[in-house]
Order: sequence, then structure tokens, then C-alpha cells
Amino acid sequence: MPSTIKEASLKLDFIVVGGGLAGFAVAYALCKAGHRVRVLEKHPSLGMPAGGLRVPPNMSKILKNWVGEEELRKTAVRNVGTPWYDMDTGEQMGYAEWKPAVMEETGGEFLMMKHEDVHRLLHTLAIAAGAKIQFGATVTSVTPGDPKPLVTLATGETLMADVIIGADGSTSMVRRMVLGREDDAEPGGFTVFGGSVSADEMKKYPELEKWATSEEHAKKEFALQLYWPDEDSGTTENDKESWHDVVSVDTVNFDSCSPKSVKFPLIGECSLE
Ligand SMILES: Cc1cc2nc3c(=O)[nH]c(=O)nc-3n(C[C@H](O)[C@H](O)[C@H](O)COP(=O)(O)OP(=O)(O)OC[C@H]3O[C@@H](n4cnc5c(N)ncnc54)[C@H](O)[C@@H]3O)c2cc1C
Repeated sequence: MPSTIKEASLKLDFIVVGGGLAGFAVAYALCKAGHRVRVLEKHPSLGMPAGGLRVPPNMSKILKNWVGEEELRKTAVRNVGTPWYDMDTGEQMGYAEWKPAVMEETGGEFLMMKHEDVHRLLHTLAIAAGAKIQFGATVTSVTPGDPKPLVTLATGETLMADVIIGADGSTSMVRRMVLGREDDAEPGGFTVFGGSVSADEMKKYPELEKWATSEEHAKKEFALQLYWPDEDSGTTENDKESWHDVVSVDTVNFDSCSPKSVKFPLIGECSLE
């Protein structure tokens, strides 16, 4: 798994706040460069349910370099193209084909993976390279250093390091502290739902069967992502952006969509994860 771990001429202590994809990836890269890294993640464990992840070439080439093609193939499928549908009429508007020549130019592939598989891969890499990963550790504040910065955990414990890295997601507390003010990101007005559905389930519906059985796409499981106007999504402005909040399809308002296009979210009465 991890390639050679270097001996850093100045070995530093890093604390990474947040053990998502970014937290584990940076922990691995820093350990490989010879530093000591401790990751603090508020969730209790790995393996929380999450949806499908599009892994574009800029990410897939790094993963391939880190774990090798064979390992990646165990959990990834190649995305050969993306069809676009009009949600009002259900008609296909276009098809973005990820042509091999274009992919070659990017140096990677467009892969589809489960978020939790990528998360687990990066966790394994980081641990093998020597990172200390602590689950169930919620950071409540970060204090700039004199002489060194420190983090305070919900338990009241404080931890010091040479460098603290904020990898605590889109509503980052660390970024707020660095900026000295609230982040000015404006909500886009859309809620994104992700989920997965088995090919067997899709085959029960004539409109979806062609995807489940086509040579190009035939796979056991399909990921779906829905971009929904906030006002019809059943979410409120207090809901936090997260991979792990499970939302019942019953709370989403499908009235404005054609019956054809709502088939996807409705099949199997799956929870949208
Ligand atoms: C529904 C959805 C679909 C997406 N789909 C894609 C996609 O297909 N492809 C893609 O490239 N990107 C996608 N993104 C963007 C994607 O989330 C990011 O690219 C990537 O997952 C961000 O990883 P991260 O580690 O920066 O943040 P996160 O995954 O948000 O991880 C942050 C971590 O920090 C932890 N944390 C937060 N605060 C604290 C604290 N105070 N103390 C301790 N721990 C804390 C959280 O528990 C979490 O584990 C999607 C995002 C969403 C929400």
C-alpha cells in the first residue's frame, strides 16, 4: 500500500480537524513526508452510510498513484458518459461522453465509487503510514499559537501541535477562525441528494431497464444524485450539508417532475442517503 515513507529533516506535529476524504488524504500525504499526524473526527466510526461519489480524473489519478490500479478496480467503475434529462418532460437533452482520448489528456479516468469505499481506502493508507486517527473526537475551538496553536475537544481536553489543519468540511469551524468572521458562501438554492439502487430493481421498470442491461453500463448497482430546489426538498436552512444524513423520499416534493423522471427516486422506496 503506502509507498516509501520519507524521513523529514524537520519532523512536525500536525493535528487535522476532520476525518473526511480531505482529512485522511492530507494525513496520509504528511505521514509519507515523514511528519507526525493526529486526525480528530467527530463521527464515532468509519462506515457511515453515504452515497455514490463521482471521482473525476484529477482525483482518480492520485488514488491510482496511491493504491495502484488493481486495488482501485475492486471498488470503482469507469464512467463512460453522462446522459442529461429534462426533469419537466423526461426527455433526454444530451449525452456527455467521457471519450478515452480526452481522459488520456487529463491523465486519469472518470470513476464512480461509493463515498464510503474511498473513505475506507484513504483511512487504510493513513493508518498504514502512521497517522493516529481518533473517532468520536469533536473539536469545539482552535486557538492560534503562542508558542503553538491548540485545539480544545468537547471533553475539555486540549491538544497542541506545530500546525493545525482544518479539514472539517463546508461549514468549517477552523476556516471561520482563520478568517476571523463568518464565511460568506451563499447557498446555491439547491439541495443535492445522493443514493444508490440495485440493477435488479431497475430492471422492473421499462424506462430504466435499458440502463441496467446496456453493455456500456451493465453493473450491479447504480448511483443517483438529485439536484432539487430547496423549497421542494423537504430540507430547511438549518440542515447542515452532510454525507450522512438520511432523508426519506416522502419529504421530497416530486409534483413538478414528469412521471418518467420521478421513477428513479421512487423505485424501491429507497432512502436517499
Ligand atoms: C451530497 C453531496 C454529494 C457530493 N458529490 C460529490 C462527488 O460526486 N464528487 C466529488 O468530488 N465531490 C462531491 N461532493 C463534494 C464532496 O463532499 C467533497 O468533495 C468531499 O467529500 C469533501 O471532503 P472533506 O473531507 O473536505 O469534507 P467532509 O466530507 O464534509 O468531511 C469533514 C469531516 O470533518 C468532520 N468534522 C466537522 N467538524 C468537526 C469538528 N468540529 N470536530 C471534529 N470533526 C469534525 C465531519 O464529521 C466530517 O467527517 C459532494 C458533496 C455532497 C454534500
